[in-house]
Amino acid sequence: MQAPQRCKLCNELKVLDTSHSIPDSVFRKLLSRGSGHAVAMYGDKVTAHKNTQSSLAEKLLCRECESALNERYDQYGQSILRNDNKNAARHSGGVLFESIETNRFANFFISILWRMQVSGLEEHNQFSMEAIHEYTIWKYLNRKITIPANLYPVALSRLQDREKIFGNNPEHIRLVIMSPFSKRYRDCTGIRFAFSGFLVEIFIPDIFRFTTNEHCMLGMCPSDYFAPYLDIADDVQIITGLANAYEKAKMI
Ligand SMILES: [Zn+2]
Repeated sequence: MQAPQRCKLCNELKVLDTSHSIPDSVFRKLLSRGSGHAVAMYGDKVTAHKNTQSSLAEKLLCRECESALNERYDQYGQSILRNDNKNAARHSGGVLFESIETNRFANFFISILWRMQVSGLEEHNQFSMEAIHEYTIWKYLNRKITIPANLYPVALSRLQDREKIFGNNPEHIRLVIMSPFSKRYRDCTGIRFAFSGFLVEIFIPDIFRFTTNEHCMLGMCPSDYFAPYLDIADDVQIITGLANAYEKAKMI
């Protein structure tokens, strides 16, 4: 029997479950031969990550909290990303999501960010968030209250790979998971990570009066969202991050 540890969400001493910051189902799709020891970066060529004990899984939460996050956020977010209900359509400039709950979708990504923040895994520790923000997000998640759209704005871009850096099949970009990293803006820090073909950027304000409106934020319109295309070759930070991940994975 495992020794009880403190759950990061309810703070109770319990036997902890295995948690994934990025939902398990994303990894299940990527893992080859079900070894449970891989972070696939690209198609079937890369299947493992040397420093990872598992598919970026660790003991973070008790079973109740793990299921609560799963039911409240992950199931909904994943259903939108998988396009289960045909809410997403490609257009010339990006992907249009219609008739979705944009704020709930944004909360899915913020809950992933929080799980990465409290994670002890090296892969998730390339960014930092001030304690006040970690606490604020925790408070909302713990009380099962929806985080308002303008508190931690979230923007999505659909990644494209025009130059075929990740191979001839353009859909290979969907198989890349990129760990979070930070980008500085004038009055906030953007924390960026990628999975399922989208770059997610969550804006953490320097102060709580966040005013910039230069990005199209998820949740500002309650039901629709347009995620513009972003070619990975057009963003130095992204292409460098992806290339590093790819090189690291190739060494296995
Ligand atoms: Zn718990």
